Amino acid sequence: MSFKQIFLLITLFFYLVSCHKENHKSSFKEEINIDYSLQKHSEEFKKEVVKVKENIYVAIGYGLANSIMIVGDEGIVIVDVMESGEAAKEVLAAFRKITKKPLKAIIYTHNHADHVFGSTGMVGNDQVDVYAHELTPYYLDRVVNVTRPITELRGFRMFGVYLDDKALVNCGIGPELNINPSSQLGAIRPNKSFKDSLAVSIEGIDFELYHAPGETNDQLYVWLPNEKVLLPGDNIYKTFPNLYTIRGTLYRDPKQWTQSLDKMRAYDIEYLIPSHTRPIIGKEKIHNTLTTYRDGIQYVHDQTIRYMNKGFTSSEIVEKVHLPATLKNEPFLQEFYGKVSWSVTNIFHGNLGFFDGNPTTLQPLSPIKKADKMIHLAGGFEQLFEQANSAFLNNEYQWALELTDYLLRKKPQDKKSITIRYQSLVKLGESESNPNARHYYLTSAKEVNGFVLTSIVEPDLRTVHAVPLEGMFDNLSVNLIPSKCEGVTVNVNFIFTDTNEKWSVQLRNSITETQPRLVKDADITVEIKSTIWKELLAKKRSGFTTFLSGDIDVSPGISDFKEFMSYFEE
Ligand SMILES: [Zn+2]
Repeated sequence: MSFKQIFLLITLFFYLVSCHKENHKSSFKEEINIDYSLQKHSEEFKKEVVKVKENIYVAIGYGLANSIMIVGDEGIVIVDVMESGEAAKEVLAAFRKITKKPLKAIIYTHNHADHVFGSTGMVGNDQVDVYAHELTPYYLDRVVNVTRPITELRGFRMFGVYLDDKALVNCGIGPELNINPSSQLGAIRPNKSFKDSLAVSIEGIDFELYHAPGETNDQLYVWLPNEKVLLPGDNIYKTFPNLYTIRGTLYRDPKQWTQSLDKMRAYDIEYLIPSHTRPIIGKEKIHNTLTTYRDGIQYVHDQTIRYMNKGFTSSEIVEKVHLPATLKNEPFLQEFYGKVSWSVTNIFHGNLGFFDGNPTTLQPLSPIKKADKMIHLAGGFEQLFEQANSAFLNNEYQWALELTDYLLRKKPQDKKSITIRYQSLVKLGESESNPNARHYYLTSAKEVNGFVLTSIVEPDLRTVHAVPLEGMFDNLSVNLIPSKCEGVTVNVNFIFTDTNEKWSVQLRNSITETQPRLVKDADITVEIKSTIWKELLAKKRSGFTTFLSGDIDVSPGISDFKEFMSYFEE
């Protein structure tokens, strides 16, 4: 083979790899039905910049969240900056048709990706102040360093990131999560934070920021007293609130959420601009909407607790708690994002933990044992399959799905069972008006048929460099593989030559303890720049090239350190 042929082959290989990466969406062969009310809900996300007041604009429909621009004397402030650099730049270009005044500050209403990950794209090389609640960096780091692998994949299912336009209608709070494998994802860390409240004047505009835990613990709202404008972040949007999110998060406390809404109700608000869905204008309308919203949350909370205290289990309470007649038709309480049933379950378990009180669920049979027993009960595998098949034919899709749990637990490759499971998931997805449930079912259907979800999210270098070393070591700790280091005790000192920080990691008892200081008589000492260490852990560079380029210095030798690193997941 000539050099030219080899070159062409390599080029073709990289082209195919990049095509595969770009085309992350998966299509369905069959027509996928859409619930009418969900389709109609798309009207909320008509893509446009809405002028709310002479100096206040909101970009809707450019991505999952809104972005809000406040124009001051000689500059602008932007509240929430979209989920990616591309979405942020598109919003900024739309804002630039209104004013060319420079960007002076950004405000994050909370840590969620759709509000912060467009910041490096929006800000570019400008130096701007970034305002957020003091807890925002903690929650950002927690997601990025600790729970990212699983919440990312579950989030992709929930937002339908891998579904094509036939299957993805809207995401309930926005048209779609606007990310793809080549997205620029960067969150600039806040440099102006506060605990309870902060009053600040920027370019002649008075801002009041208040801590308002609800959808997240770090949530804030922005009050512009002279404009009578309130920006509530994600504590209200035009759908039932996401008291629980199926991608999985820490407990969202409904009590705190209603209290935060009550704080907002005390103002004479003329313009309410949420970070999702459209603005509400008019004092009375705003007050009534906030009241309805907080009442919906309180109702579900209080009734769940009432039944919980009577000894009902969570699944029993799901059957009992439905919004009352005065609330159930309210436009802001339709279940296009959160669901009452999920909220009930979450409130129950958020208060009482995993155990529902039924002794049967205290130490249940393992999934495989239960599958064996159910198959035996049915009279054999084929008989249980017949039950699943007829459940499907009778439109009992949930029951069919539950039976395929047993069938596939026993025979994971069984083609007939896979088909029933696939078809049941598609039917369940099609009939849902809740997009989170729809997307989760439809994406899971693709996965049953062998589609593999991979991570397409990579924070940019600036974001990786800004993560504190402590967060990086937290990440290491939850990636330890006990079977690879049983009985091993080893002390590693880290000297970060650029920041002069010194850290030590002790591995013992199949855990790692990290300390912000060196230990005496370390087995291994590593000298490295903190930026390079972070790039290594974020897989932005390889260990091999780092070693070859002399960017890492290890004593007594690199092989001991390589072995130490082999104890962790990649
Ligand atoms: Zn949001």
